[in-house]
Amino acid sequence: MIKVAKFGGSSVAGAEQFRKVRHIIESDPERRVVVVSAAGKRDKNDHKLTDLLYLCHAHLDYGVSCDEIFQTIEQRFLELRDELGLKLELESELAALRGKLSKDLPVDYLVSRGEYFTSRLMAEYLGYSFVDAAECVFFGLDGRIDREKTYAAIAAALEKNERIVIPGFYGKLPTGRVKVMTRGGSDITGALAAAAVGAGVYENWTDVSGILMADPRIVKDPRPIATATYAELRELAFMGASVLHEESIAPVREKGIALNIRNTNRPEDPGTMIVSSAGDEPCDERFITGIAGRRNFTILTVSKQNMNTSLTLRQALEILDRYHASVEHITLGLDSFALVTGTAALGDGVYDVIADIRKTCRPDDVQIQDEIALVAAVGRRMTFRPGISGRLFKALGENGVNIRTIAQGADELSIIVGVDNKNFETAIRVMYDGFAG
Ligand code: ASP
Repeated sequence: MIKVAKFGGSSVAGAEQFRKVRHIIESDPERRVVVVSAAGKRDKNDHKLTDLLYLCHAHLDYGVSCDEIFQTIEQRFLELRDELGLKLELESELAALRGKLSKDLPVDYLVSRGEYFTSRLMAEYLGYSFVDAAECVFFGLDGRIDREKTYAAIAAALEKNERIVIPGFYGKLPTGRVKVMTRGGSDITGALAAAAVGAGVYENWTDVSGILMADPRIVKDPRPIATATYAELRELAFMGASVLHEESIAPVREKGIALNIRNTNRPEDPGTMIVSSAGDEPCDERFITGIAGRRNFTILTVSKQNMNTSLTLRQALEILDRYHASVEHITLGLDSFALVTGTAALGDGVYDVIADIRKTCRPDDVQIQDEIALVAAVGRRMTFRPGISGRLFKALGENGVNIRTIAQGADELSIIVGVDNKNFETAIRVMYDGFAG
């Protein structure tokens, strides 16, 4: 089995972190493909190399000297090399880059050098072959990754070399220019590499021991999620949990490759394993995989005696669509329905929406409630298990949380409750304490 290990900026921030990475890599010979971010912050007052490179470019753009910043960047690479006792001759490449610094130097190229130099150092330190992302990660003319071309190039690189390091975050356009991905894009490179080589697992090494079951700013010391399915992860991400971006999950999800989120500073922790299907696992009392939520929704309730529900609902949805307000939930009653939408997306357009609904749907009444939060309990183990929602609502009620709306997906993967913004944190804590902790 081949394992692809991607190390984020904090995992490669300095010599100490490089040592931890080598330890991790050497402890498992299956980790044959390593994807590396640019060195991140070594401590709270430090800066990420990517940020410094962007800053450098901003100076050039405004015609302000970036000498000092560039020197800081050079220093970091040279210090890292010397502290690790590496031989890599970086001076001439850095000098060449310095010589090219001008307003006309493409920002993507300049910024990509963070990953480029960090990976060059990592490749020498691990004794792996360096494979430039410009030679194996390709964008199409539409600016999107050309997956097939990328997969073929990465697979070929691993055929030629036993063990490789690839810089994350950038690739090449058909024009030959370097293009960077969105911030945090090394996660995407890692997933592409895993899909390309048919990895048994894609390890994403970061500075937390997996995805937490709830937001640690709300729940004290939440436990990490041991196993989640990709479907659960999507629900959690949709509801606001900070997990990997969809784009960095799709390549591995589509190929059924497991994703393991691990902590470089605590390699003994198993982290979170994300799999296509969790199979028959022993079920304990913890039915919930994770809890997530978002504040600031608006509920529009439209009432009309004896209405033609499907027609009126369709008209109301079309109106919201015209105002680019996505509808998160719909609840239907006999003579009314309620639409839940993001307050910010609606903005001041809410009054026009109501006026349009009045004109088109001719309702008896339109009510609006804002300051609503949606909180989701996500868990595959809730499926076909009677009584969970009852227990959940009871627990919320006992803690003084009034439920304004309820939704459960047909797949029973999540139960979503709408509560007042002011009850947001209590609702999350009650759910966690009762069902997850
Ligand atoms: N270095 C890039 C960033 O800071 C990409 C990454 O770390 O994944 O966003």
